[in-house]
Parts: sequence; C-alpha cells; structure tokens
Amino acid sequence: MESKNIRLSKSIIGEIEADAVRKILLEDGYLGMGAEVGKFEEDIANYIGVNTSNVVCVSTGTSALHLAVEAITEAGDEVIVPSLTYLSSFQAISGARAIPIACEVYDDTLTIDIEDAEKKITSKTKAIMTVHYASNPGYLEKLYNLAKKYNLRVIEDAAHAFGCSYKEKKIGSFGDIICFSFDGIKNITSGEGGAIITSDEKVLNIIKDARLLSVEKDSEKRYLGQRSWDFDVTRQGYRYHLSNIFAAIGRVQLKRLDVEFAPKRQKLISSYKELLGSNKNIKFQLQNEDSTIIPHIFSIRVLNNKRDELLIELNKNNIPTGIHYKPNHLLTLYKNKDTTLPITENIYKEIITLPLHPELELNDVENICLLILKKLNN
Ligand SMILES: *Cc1c(COP(=O)(O)O)cnc(C)c1O
Repeated sequence: MESKNIRLSKSIIGEIEADAVRKILLEDGYLGMGAEVGKFEEDIANYIGVNTSNVVCVSTGTSALHLAVEAITEAGDEVIVPSLTYLSSFQAISGARAIPIACEVYDDTLTIDIEDAEKKITSKTKAIMTVHYASNPGYLEKLYNLAKKYNLRVIEDAAHAFGCSYKEKKIGSFGDIICFSFDGIKNITSGEGGAIITSDEKVLNIIKDARLLSVEKDSEKRYLGQRSWDFDVTRQGYRYHLSNIFAAIGRVQLKRLDVEFAPKRQKLISSYKELLGSNKNIKFQLQNEDSTIIPHIFSIRVLNNKRDELLIELNKNNIPTGIHYKPNHLLTLYKNKDTTLPITENIYKEIITLPLHPELELNDVENICLLILKKLNN
C-alpha cells in the first residue's frame, strides 16, 4: 500500500475560517466573549430550530457538561451514565461533586441500556446522562419516559451528534439539557468550544452566569461590548465562556456542515459498510431507524478474538486506529468493586475505530477495507 498519510480524524479548515479569524483579530480587535459569540448562538439556534436565548456557548464540550450537571445537582447526588463514553462525561459529573453511576449500553446500538439504568436508580439519583455514541441517539423517547416516571433530569451528551435528528427532529430541538462539543475533530469545530441547549429558564440563568464566574447577568453586557463593575455573586462560577475568535470559526463551519461535511461523512460510512458488510468476523453498530445521523466516528466490532491482531496489522500499514472508549468504571478514580459491566467490558475487547473525516477519500476507505478483509479472512 502506498504510504499516504491517512489520519484517524482531522479538522477541516480552510481560507474562509482563516478570513473569519483574521477579521476578528484585525478589524474587530475584541478577542474575548463579545458580539461574535452572540451571533454564533443565534446561528446555532436557527440551525437547530430553538430560541436564541436557549443556546449558551461555552469553552468546551466538557465545560458544557460540567455546567449542566452543576446546575441541576447538589454534592452527593447520583448521575447514571454509560461507562462506554469519553472520560469527559464522567469528569463533568465528579467535577460538579456529584457521583457518576456507571451503567451498561445495549450490545447492538452501543447506546444507554435503559433497563440497566432503571436498575441503578436510587433515592439519590438526580439525573441520567445519555451519550449519543457515534452519533446514535438511541431510544430517546423510552429514556425520557423513564426519566419522567422517576422524576429525573436528562442530560444528553450530544458531543458526537451535532446536526443529527431523532424522529425527524434535530437533536437539541427537544428534550431537557443537551450538550454539544465543537472541539477540533467533531462534526463542526470552533477550534475548541461547546454549547448547551435547554428551555429551562432556571438552568439557563445559572449557566449563562456560571460561564463568567457567576457574575450576575454579565453575558448580555458582553454582547454589547460592556462589562459589569458593580455586581453580586451567589454561586461558584468558572471562566468557561467562548471567545470571539473561536465563535468566528464555528460560524463558518456551521455553514459547511450540511452541504459539505455531512454528505461526505455519510458516503464514507456507506462505503465502509458495503465493503466490510459480508465478513463474519465484523459487527457494525446498529443504527436506530428513527434517527438520521452525521457520523462522527466509525467503530466496528471485531469478533472471535481477532481485534488485537487486526490493530497490529493496521498500524503496521500506517492506518491509525482508535478505541472508543476504555470504559470509565475500569479507571482508578471511578473503580468500585461492586461494579461489573460485562457487556461494556466485552465491547471494549472487540471495538476499534477506523479513520473517518471529510477529507478521507473513497480510495482510502477501499484500501483500508482490503487490508482488513485480507487479515480477517486468513
Ligand atoms: C468530545 C467529547 C466530549 C467533550 O468535548 P470537548 O469539547 O472535547 O471538551 C464529551 N463527550 C463525548 C462523548 C465526546 O466525544
């Protein structure tokens, strides 16, 4: 195979993003959180179909999750979360002094196992954090029904799912508290960044202030280029706001999502599935039929103990791979001798993430698949 440098994932940034940043740096001259952040929130609101006042941009997806958890929990409250997620989901919970309770995912969809989540509900449970693994929102309606039954809040870790839909409604246009990430490799990037969407006024007020050290009502002033000098503070806050520089990148990326990034990601995934589909050693994640996704990552399961040898073979041929994710309940910080999650632990042994980003070529996918099939057919 030719030694072209294939990347696992990649930021797709061009002259238009560079121009937008240049404008902020040289014409606007205001680099912190100002009008451009307000415009990004407005653009996101228009894209998703919610009121602008329901969108709060923050510095990262992790800070979005952290503020969301902190807004609805007290220290010691429990939040049920699938163990098969990025460390960020867990750290957001423990960072808010709540307790992450690891639960299973379904073996086929890799989304939260709703029956297992129900078993883990106690009198201390305050919320369920669901994770849209590889952009799949899973059985959201059933999850919201469970939450309603036990009077729980729902936080959607939708870091993988910006632009995706469930029952023809955009993720973020319904539900309780939805968190997105715009880090360098997500469906759209702002360099670093994140957003929270909710229609809960109380939560909105808390997080809009909390991203700016909980200085009361500072957000509105900053959009007008003003500051608060005589203010009060009643809660712990953070420096979690987004900057104008990052917002400028995000606004350009948002325009490119549906016309450029989404069709490319979808086409690459179809090609992978078509080429690998008939191999008996490979299992794909089941996509729920009532959702339309823009795939953020492409992970497959390699059965019959063949995963590790395939990893070695791919890496030997300069094909980068990932493992999404090491289950969080296996990490020292979150380990608990009573927690065993056999489905998740088995997935961890079988899963492998293959390259996916809009600049990957169909020809690259073909070469990667040829290599995989050659190895697995041996
Ligand atoms: C990327 C990601 C996050 C965190 O987003 P950052 O912007 O990188 O902080 C949270 N959860 C999941 C599942 C992610 O993939």
